[in-house]
Amino acid sequence: MYVNEKMYELGSKKSAIRELFEYGKKKAKEVGAENVYDFSLGNPTVPAPDCVNETIRELTNELDSISLHGYTSAQGDEATRKAIADYLNKTYDTHFNPDNFYMTCGAAASLTITLNALVSNPEDEVIAIAPFFPEYRVFATAAGAKFVVVSADTEKFQIKFDELESKINKNTKAIIVNSPNNPSGAVYSEDTIKKLAALLEKKEKEYGTSIFIICDEPYREIVYDGVDVPYVTKYYNNTVVCYSYSKSLSLPGERIGYILVPDEADDSKTLYAAVAGAGRALGYVCAPSMYQKVIAKCVGNTGDINLYKKNRDLLYENLTQMGYHCFMPQGAFYMFMEALEPDSVHFCEVAKEENLLMVAADGFCCPGWVRISYCVDEAMIERSFKAFRNLKNKYN
Ligand code: PLP
Repeated sequence: MYVNEKMYELGSKKSAIRELFEYGKKKAKEVGAENVYDFSLGNPTVPAPDCVNETIRELTNELDSISLHGYTSAQGDEATRKAIADYLNKTYDTHFNPDNFYMTCGAAASLTITLNALVSNPEDEVIAIAPFFPEYRVFATAAGAKFVVVSADTEKFQIKFDELESKINKNTKAIIVNSPNNPSGAVYSEDTIKKLAALLEKKEKEYGTSIFIICDEPYREIVYDGVDVPYVTKYYNNTVVCYSYSKSLSLPGERIGYILVPDEADDSKTLYAAVAGAGRALGYVCAPSMYQKVIAKCVGNTGDINLYKKNRDLLYENLTQMGYHCFMPQGAFYMFMEALEPDSVHFCEVAKEENLLMVAADGFCCPGWVRISYCVDEAMIERSFKAFRNLKNKYN
C-alpha cells in the first residue's frame, strides 16, 4: 500500500454513529420517515439565535468582499478575540486578554491542535475519562501519544479518582475533561473539579512535570435547572480550554471555535506559540473569516436551550416510567440509558427491529449503556414511545 496505512484505516471505516445515521436514512425510504426513530446524531435542531442571521445580513450589506471574506491573522481577528475575552471576563470573573486566544475550526480542530502542541515524545500519555467522545482516541494517537482510559463511574458519571490516580505517571501529559458530557449528559461538580485540581497538583509536584487539563467544552452553555459548570481555569493553572460554537450557537457546519491558553499556565507564552505552530503544521490558520465576525457580535447568545430541556424531560419521564434505567442529564443533549442486556451492541440491533436507532456506548468506552441523542423533533420522541415499549416487552 503506497498510502499511510493508519490514515487509510481511519478514512475507510465509518464511525458507528455515522453508519447508524446512514442506515436510518435508508430505512426511512423503505418504511417512511415518520416510522423511523433516529436518536443517533448530535446535530443541533434548535435554530441559531436571530443574532447570527441578522449579523450575516449586516456584514454582507456593509462590508466589501475583501473585508468580509479575506484572510485574518493566523490566530484570528483581534476584535473577535477581544470580544470573547471580554465576555468570559464578565461572565466568569476571569482576566483574559485577546492574546490568550487562538481561533479554530470547532472543537475537533481545537483538540487536535492542543494535543499536537503538548505531545512531544512517544512516551507521552493522554488520559480520557469514560464515557468519552470516541474521536479523542483518534486525535491523541495521531498526535503521537499513548491513549489511557479511566473507566466510567456509572453511578454519578463523575470521576473514579482512585483509578485516575493509579494511571497518572511521569509520562502523563494531559487529561481530557468534557463537561457537560457527551454521551452521559453529566456535569462535573465543583467538588469533582477541586479534587481533580488537587490530585494533578500533587502529581505535578511528585514528578516535577506539567500535567494539563484539556477542557473540551462545546456544551458549556447547554445546561438545565440552573446547574453550575465550574470554569476550570479558576481552579487549576495548567488548563487549556477547547471551545466550539457548534452547539451553543447551533453552527456545527460553519466550523468555528477557539483555544484558550491562560497566562497562569506554565510557560504560557511558549505553550501559545506551540499552539500556533501546531495550527500552522496542521493547516488550521485563519479560522473562517465571516464567522469570526459573527462571533464578535453574537458571543454570549445561544439557541433556545429550553427546547432541549423539554425533550429531555419528556424522554426521561416516559422511559423511566416504562422501567428503563436512565441517568438524568444535567447538560448537553444526550440521555444515557442502561441496555436491557449486558451486550449493548446486540441490544441496539434488537432496537433496530423497532426502527429505534440508538448508539451503543461501547465506542464511548462504556459497554452496557446506550446513548439517545435528543436534539430531535419533539413529535418524533412522542411517536417513538411505542417502539420503546415494544423493545421493553421483548426483554420482559
Ligand atoms: N467534543 C465533543 C464532546 C463533541 O460532542 C463534539 C461534537 O459532537 C466535538 C468535540 C466536536 O465538535 P466540533 O463540531 O466543534 O468540532
